[in-house]
Amino acid sequence: MTKEKPELSDAMKKKMAGKTFEKNPIQGTKYTIAISSAKGGVGKSTFATNIALALKKIGCRVGLLDADIYGPSLPKLFSINEKPKSDGKTMTPITKYEIQCMSIGFLTEEQTPMIWRGPMVTSAIKTFAQKVNWNNLDFIIVDMPPGTGDTQLTFAQEIKMDGVIIVSTPQELALQDVKRGIKMFDKLGVKIIGLIDNMCHFQTDDGKKYSIFGEGGVQRTAKEFKKDFLGEIPIVPEIGKQGDLGMPIVESHPDHNVSKIYLNLAEKIKTTFF
Ligand code: ADP
Repeated sequence: MTKEKPELSDAMKKKMAGKTFEKNPIQGTKYTIAISSAKGGVGKSTFATNIALALKKIGCRVGLLDADIYGPSLPKLFSINEKPKSDGKTMTPITKYEIQCMSIGFLTEEQTPMIWRGPMVTSAIKTFAQKVNWNNLDFIIVDMPPGTGDTQLTFAQEIKMDGVIIVSTPQELALQDVKRGIKMFDKLGVKIIGLIDNMCHFQTDDGKKYSIFGEGGVQRTAKEFKKDFLGEIPIVPEIGKQGDLGMPIVESHPDHNVSKIYLNLAEKIKTTFF
């Protein structure tokens, strides 16, 4: 018999017990949107970077905050090798592809592991939210780490978040974590904008589609939890290649079919808020 895992860990419940939190908006932006999945490796960072670039391309001013302290992706995905300037009190985000960017990876060497306990992670996240000179943005896109831990909790309770987009592959193994993630955000009162089915299928040159990770799982999950299903993104090798090159596909190949999918999704997100 399978035992259902608790929705929130005991440690997390203890942290939340009896506490009231003041939610501070991130200064310098109108809206803060998190990209989350609870599961790692489903394409969350890839989605976050491409959707940020797509929002920029449709005329929004965008920031990208890589909140994955243990596994930052933004330095690689945007090929950023410099350190942000600081006056000792605040840091200036690094602007690349007209996006204002911040990541713990800008402050550490590429292969240095972050061996930090939870409170240090929480403190780093608050620094990124409050001590960075984000300048006149419409959206900050926050790339969340996997799981349902300290970073998610800090954002949900202490930083004003305007919504979260959940990214998943259609595979049951990923969806199991996604469901936990949905319950967590619901419990913490964070609006779920909708779900994205990433790597829904692979299409060969002769037009045949192969559903490598199964079919329809994300859409079914959206229905089960009464959330919006925002759309699907196929497996496109160019997406991975461009990520590795440090120039995501929406920036490098804006006319690619898959870039058009990101652009349509960006329009949907924009009209949700403006
Ligand atoms: P996460 O942030 O969820 O850990 P990543 O964004 O790092 O996931 O993506 C995991 C891997 O999948 C990367 O190698 C990335 O290039 C690849 N990937 C993500 N989305 C797609 C896609 N739609 N098509 C092809 N490869 C993808």
